[in-house]
Amino acid sequence: MRATILDGTALAQIVQAELRAAIAHRRERGYAPPGLAAVLVGANPASEWYVNAKRRDCERVGIESSLHRLPADASQAQLLELIGRLNADPRVDGILVQLPLPPHFDELTILRAIDPTKDVDGFHPENVGLLATGHPRFVPCTPLGVWRLLTHYQVPLRGAAVVVVGRSNIVGKPLATLLMQKPTRDNPYGGDATVTVCHSATRDLPTLCRQADIVIVAIGQAHFLTADMVKPGVVVVDVGINKLAGQSQPVGDADYHGLQALAAAITPVPGGVGPMTRAMLLANTVQAANARSGGG
Ligand code: NAP
Repeated sequence: MRATILDGTALAQIVQAELRAAIAHRRERGYAPPGLAAVLVGANPASEWYVNAKRRDCERVGIESSLHRLPADASQAQLLELIGRLNADPRVDGILVQLPLPPHFDELTILRAIDPTKDVDGFHPENVGLLATGHPRFVPCTPLGVWRLLTHYQVPLRGAAVVVVGRSNIVGKPLATLLMQKPTRDNPYGGDATVTVCHSATRDLPTLCRQADIVIVAIGQAHFLTADMVKPGVVVVDVGINKLAGQSQPVGDADYHGLQALAAAITPVPGGVGPMTRAMLLANTVQAANARSGGG
């Protein structure tokens, strides 16, 4: 068996083309372009890279992005004041505060300060709660990107045994919530899957993974998931992005080459979940703009 490659780069381009058309349609009817405000605190090189990439994506589809920088030693009050201004700015439909923040910031206080209707990352507790109760407003970008990828490639989710390795607030937890949710006519976001969430205290993780139809690994440890930990025909989704010394390209949390011969399908790194995450930020921003202006 040779695994089907779940190509996030190709699907992200399709999503971008759809969004470009939707934005053009919006503008033809006299609506302003959607606006995304990115907030960058300090000069973390990875954060700089992500924010620049997100802004380039915005430009490609016709979203107006603005960048708001604060120095690494800025105070929490300064950041809250900036968020307050962006909340009040009618040109801003979506606000993203690039994480991680320097350690002196209280992340939850910052995320709670963002207007939940502009919270296109989906991290505000109100949006977390809406997702958990089956009424999502914004689904966080990485889980949404994984769901779009799996549904696009028609990976059967209903009743599937899914193991999510990792329980972070931005990936593991919302992904598990999304995949176990029952989809309805009002809320298509759901997988109806049977989901097991694993973490660093999980006992005998390989046995749990070997029982799974789909294994999603999001822990930040290079090549963690190996062929002896899965069953033949498994679908592997690799969320991890790990920079190894001396390698220009990042590697995932899964041993891609070892798993390719055994899996039915697998996401590459790079080119799998990463581009889908970025595409979903654009989709959430367009959704926010349409909800605000009625221009959908
Ligand atoms: P995180 O906040 O550091 O959380 C890591 C999770 O993995 C934790 O729940 C941790 O368990 C668990 N874990 C760590 N080692 C483990 C082990 N040996 N066995 C089982 N579980 C283990 O990470 P994150 O923000 O979710 O990110 C995870 C990875 O995804 C990183 O490589 C990150 O760069 C990448 N990422 C990629 C994208 C994308 O778009 N492709 C987006 C976001 C993140 P405990 O809770 O017990 O500590």
